[in-house]
Amino acid sequence: MTSGEDWRYAIAPPQDERDRLLSHAAGLVSRRLGSLTDSGPLNGRLDRETIRDRLSAFDFDEPVDLAEAATELAALLGESGVQSAHARCFGLFNPTPAFPGVVADMLAAAWNPQLAVWSHASGAVEAEHHVLAYVARRLEFPDEAGASHFTTGGSEANATALNVALTRLFPGFADQGLAALPRRPRVYASAESHLAWLKIVHQAGLGREALRLVEVDGEGRLDLGALDRALAQDIAHGHAPAMVIATAGTTNAGVLDPIEGVLAAARSAGAHVHVDAAWAGAAAFSDRLRPCLKGISQADSITVDAHKWLSAPMGAGMFFCRRKAWLAAAFRVSTDYMPQNAVGLDPYVLSQQWSRRLVGLRLLLILTSLGRAGVARQIEHQAAMGALLKTKLASAGWRVINDSPLPVVCYVDPQGADPSRIAQRVVDRGRVWISPTRTQGVACLRSCITSFLVEPADLDLLIAELGAARQAPGS
Ligand SMILES: *Cc1c(COP(=O)(O)O)cnc(C)c1O
Repeated sequence: MTSGEDWRYAIAPPQDERDRLLSHAAGLVSRRLGSLTDSGPLNGRLDRETIRDRLSAFDFDEPVDLAEAATELAALLGESGVQSAHARCFGLFNPTPAFPGVVADMLAAAWNPQLAVWSHASGAVEAEHHVLAYVARRLEFPDEAGASHFTTGGSEANATALNVALTRLFPGFADQGLAALPRRPRVYASAESHLAWLKIVHQAGLGREALRLVEVDGEGRLDLGALDRALAQDIAHGHAPAMVIATAGTTNAGVLDPIEGVLAAARSAGAHVHVDAAWAGAAAFSDRLRPCLKGISQADSITVDAHKWLSAPMGAGMFFCRRKAWLAAAFRVSTDYMPQNAVGLDPYVLSQQWSRRLVGLRLLLILTSLGRAGVARQIEHQAAMGALLKTKLASAGWRVINDSPLPVVCYVDPQGADPSRIAQRVVDRGRVWISPTRTQGVACLRSCITSFLVEPADLDLLIAELGAARQAPGS
């Protein structure tokens, strides 16, 4: 057989071979998920040279057995970078993937529906609507079919919010663009908001200066007085407030902006109100925590990421819009080759993507496997671990500097040890992962309970590692 002749066997193996490969892959996945509480190092030690060297073995000249290649690539992933899925990665909102979400991803790949149009993937589109409607109800937000959709992540959802706001508020924008507008649109978010907003205003053509980063109060929340002043100033200068963002759960410190106050200020300036609840939106699943999102149900649009606190595998954001008509105006298009939009629910004319993967199955299977009470308990477990971490940090002589009901903790050494240096030492020791950050201008350490696997013993280990890093010479 000349090289390449067995491509049919590789691209679509017969059943025996398929079963062998699938059980091999299942073994890899199962061992991986079972290793996420192991005491091994969290940080891959491989340097760039070694990574490239190992990848160069895949020269694509001769076919390699899929099981062998999968084993090697799984090993490479596990030995390089930060293992953010690990229980003791106290990281940047990236979760341990929930098992039902992992299964969902394989199903979605194998069925491979194309969700651009309803008629081609009616079951898949309806399945996504079904789960989105449930999340919307938890947020006490209208759940009109087609007014919400899955996105690649919070950034796409946030960019969608801006497109909706501009299209909805400025009649000339859709057809003539920004040049047609009599006044320059401005966007407002707190100084502690997620700075993907800079990229979003840039890409929308507003220019980065259109983003007003409003001062925060002593707790890190958007300062309503400062917002009022910024709005009044801009209106006086002939600018047009287009969108005001309330961040529910800042990346740095889990701080929640006063949503109701933001709503009132934005409404009187005629602006669209978006709540960026990418991480903390999951609090809506807990009756106990949901009050911290008070006011969210009155927003014009909302971002929640399923791939953060809801533990879906990566690439699963959600965008919720008060009216489907706003999305339809922002994403309208018609082509000769796309099927007729008979039901008015074709995702490609209601969202940014065209070809669209079935993403919602991850959250659907997570919610259905855990059940309502199970999801609430998972969320509350993580919140409880966050509260316990605060107590343990205080007893170990650290000073907690953020105030959030959610499980992200910012802290400093009262003796003034340099947070970056401490974080580096902790990370170098490899048993836990934390990061340095800066909140309200103060350099600090940050630890977030991103994994549902965290138990009190993991917190004790974190405290011990922090202690060791603080005592090391040169702190
Ligand atoms: C994570 C996050 C984002 C960005 O979302 P991605 O899913 O990373 O694209 C935006 N805002 C907030 C508050 C976030 O936590």
